[in-house]
Amino acid sequence: MSRYGLDDGCPTLPFLDQPGVCNRCGTRLTGRRTQWCSSACESVLRENHDWNLARRAARKRDGNKCVRCGHTGIPRVFVGHVDAPPEIRTPAWSSRNSREWGLEVNHITPREGRGYGWGCAHHLDGLETLCKPCHRDETNNQAAERRSRQQREAG
Ligand SMILES: [Zn+2]
Ligand SMILES: [Zn+2]
Ligand SMILES: [Zn+2]
Repeated sequence: MSRYGLDDGCPTLPFLDQPGVCNRCGTRLTGRRTQWCSSACESVLRENHDWNLARRAARKRDGNKCVRCGHTGIPRVFVGHVDAPPEIRTPAWSSRNSREWGLEVNHITPREGRGYGWGCAHHLDGLETLCKPCHRDETNNQAAERRSRQQREAG
């Protein structure tokens, strides 16, 4: 375990163990800066290790769309037989509907029990934005893979 509670050799901060340079980009630091050259580099630490920030950053990177099917997570409404722009709000968009359809962020590599706490399980590279139906499919696939792996290991 290295500084900031990260895995050794965390690839998002290649200069973590080098003194006098930015942990992220390796720029030589001057004055009162001791760890980061900029707030942009510092936010890389949080956006790859804090689950709440990481999932927000993943959605932004993916354009707030499901990477599998392109769904925006907003139920489509039809007004006068025209596919209305998403800004139009109707009573049909109850909060229950938006929860059903809202986007979720999936760990491409299963967390394998590492939970949602701070750490290297949430690197942006390993996250993808999915709509609920696609996320459900993916979770089922991961569970099936885990089962067949356990069977192989057992037999
Ligand atoms: Zn930097
Ligand atoms: Zn989808
Ligand atoms: Zn990391």
